[in-house]
Amino acid sequence: RAKADGRGRHCFFDRSMDAAARERRAMELDLRRMLLEQDGRDLEIHFQPIVEVATRRPTACEALVRWRRPGQEGLVSPAVFVPIAEEANLIMALGERVLRRACREAMRWPDPTLRLAVNLSPAQFRAPGLTQAVHAALAETGLAPHRLELEVTEGVMLLGTDLVFATMHELRALGVRFALDDFGTGYSSLSYLRSFPFERVKIDRDFVRDIEARPDDAAIVRAVASLSTELGMATIAEGVETEGQFRSLAAARCQEAQGYLFGAPVPGEEIVALLQRLDTAPEPAPEPVGGD
Ligand code: C2E
Ligand code: MG
Ligand code: MG
Ligand code: MG
Repeated sequence: RAKADGRGRHCFFDRSMDAAARERRAMELDLRRMLLEQDGRDLEIHFQPIVEVATRRPTACEALVRWRRPGQEGLVSPAVFVPIAEEANLIMALGERVLRRACREAMRWPDPTLRLAVNLSPAQFRAPGLTQAVHAALAETGLAPHRLELEVTEGVMLLGTDLVFATMHELRALGVRFALDDFGTGYSSLSYLRSFPFERVKIDRDFVRDIEARPDDAAIVRAVASLSTELGMATIAEGVETEGQFRSLAAARCQEAQGYLFGAPVPGEEIVALLQRLDTAPEPAPEPVGGD
């Protein structure tokens, strides 16, 4: 009897697993066809501005990929399909297309000093040819290498620091820069900040969300900003949604900010107008920065 129960449960569990596994498999097949046979035609790249805290003027835009999957409503989030692309060995194909298209878009922005931030998945470090792919995207589009900022998370270090170190330096030799994304949420080790060539540290939204109410979060942000500055890096605060958060980040001496307060990610056709709006917005009255 116990055995039958066990088997029953087992069966039920398997069936529900099957549904999830089937959906995942279907997604993988669609993704593979779209990337390999259709040159990534259903990918959409959205861009989100990053502003300088002191002036609120845009300094960069981050490219964020979405997938308009045929027969489905809306856009599939990268949080859903990037992991599938990673496991299905499609991440290089995805990454190359995002990179090339994002660089091409950035070439149309009126301000040639704006940086373009592009996310790299750890799996792209593991596969051969990353440096070559970045070089090709820059050469094809004409984007100045120093305008490209590659965002990697701490998770990349699980691949082994030697590999990451070598690859980062190869890419640095092309002239591209690096930002450490989602700082504070992963396997944060201060030695990464010391040993790897990061230009910027992006403080995860986790520390920004409640920064006004939680003195501990404010202290962490302050400490990360100060440490980064002393190590020659700048900090970008992620997920800034309110003026209150923004004021706290300014007080903590973050140099740049990104979030819905300045604009959500928008399609390429809309980013130029958004950038112009940010650039012509009246300068806010300077906030007294806490001198206590
Ligand atoms: P991320 O690189 O940390 O990107 C920031 C995420 O926060 C984006 O989600 C963005 O839309 C969202 N965000 C921005 N401002 C706010 C805000 O004020 N409030 C809130 N609640 N959220 C905000 P998105 O676009 O869904 O991307 C999720 C993640 O997917 C990214 O996190 C990145 O890790 C990954 N991703 C996106 N595009 C690519 C890509 O082209 N390649 C790779 N490998 N990964 C990508
Ligand atoms: Mg990012
Ligand atoms: Mg991030
Ligand atoms: Mg994040």
